[in-house]
Amino acid sequence: MATEGYRANVDLIKQRIAIAAHKAGRVPEEITLVAVSKSVDIGVVKNMHQLGIEDFGENRAQELKIKMEQMPQARWHMIGRLQTNKVKDIAAQIHLIHSLDRWRLAEAINFQGRRKNIRIDTLVQVNVAGEETKTGLQINEVKDFLQEISSLENIQVLGLMTIAPIVDDPEETRPVFKELYKLQRTLLRYRWKNVDLRYLSMGMSQDFEIAIEEGANVVRIGSALFG
Ligand SMILES: *Cc1c(COP(=O)(O)O)cnc(C)c1O
Repeated sequence: MATEGYRANVDLIKQRIAIAAHKAGRVPEEITLVAVSKSVDIGVVKNMHQLGIEDFGENRAQELKIKMEQMPQARWHMIGRLQTNKVKDIAAQIHLIHSLDRWRLAEAINFQGRRKNIRIDTLVQVNVAGEETKTGLQINEVKDFLQEISSLENIQVLGLMTIAPIVDDPEETRPVFKELYKLQRTLLRYRWKNVDLRYLSMGMSQDFEIAIEEGANVVRIGSALFG
């Protein structure tokens, strides 16, 4: 696709984000669009960047590492399951890890953060619908997990992330997003160190408008942008 084709996609997605935000009484500026560029050529990613997209998401550490090296000027997000032995490959450059889903991974991220004397920003992934095929903490595990994380000095939790089940009618995802928003509200009452739950990363191509209506301020969009 030529740049013009991508421009039309970007314009349309931004417009849809704005409409959903206004519908929910919010402003589009508070919603971050993460363009999910997995299996997309770096040339196309650079095109997108020139069109004003600043944030890109990848779900494999290896591909992420290569693209971060090729395009250090963008903000890179890790959105897929992360193996503990891959953390060192992405630690120095990663903007936000959305897929913190277990204690061993938290320790590995903290370890790399300490080595590099940085704090690594993360979101805790929650398996709201309790699907067996998905990773992520169960709703009732998140509070204790955050409390334990607060003892790790080189990791910071900036919010929660979820992937809604694949359904025929996107409306069916609404309760999942509502549930994560409710969890965020509940957990905001606690004042843990190294925890500041300002982001809700939820919504993909099929359901991002519903996610925004239910409180998302980070959406991860792949196919609707890259075609
Ligand atoms: C692939 C992927 C997306 C984007 O999915 P689309 O349906 O292409 O928008 C979002 N989040 C995660 C975790 C993904 O793996």
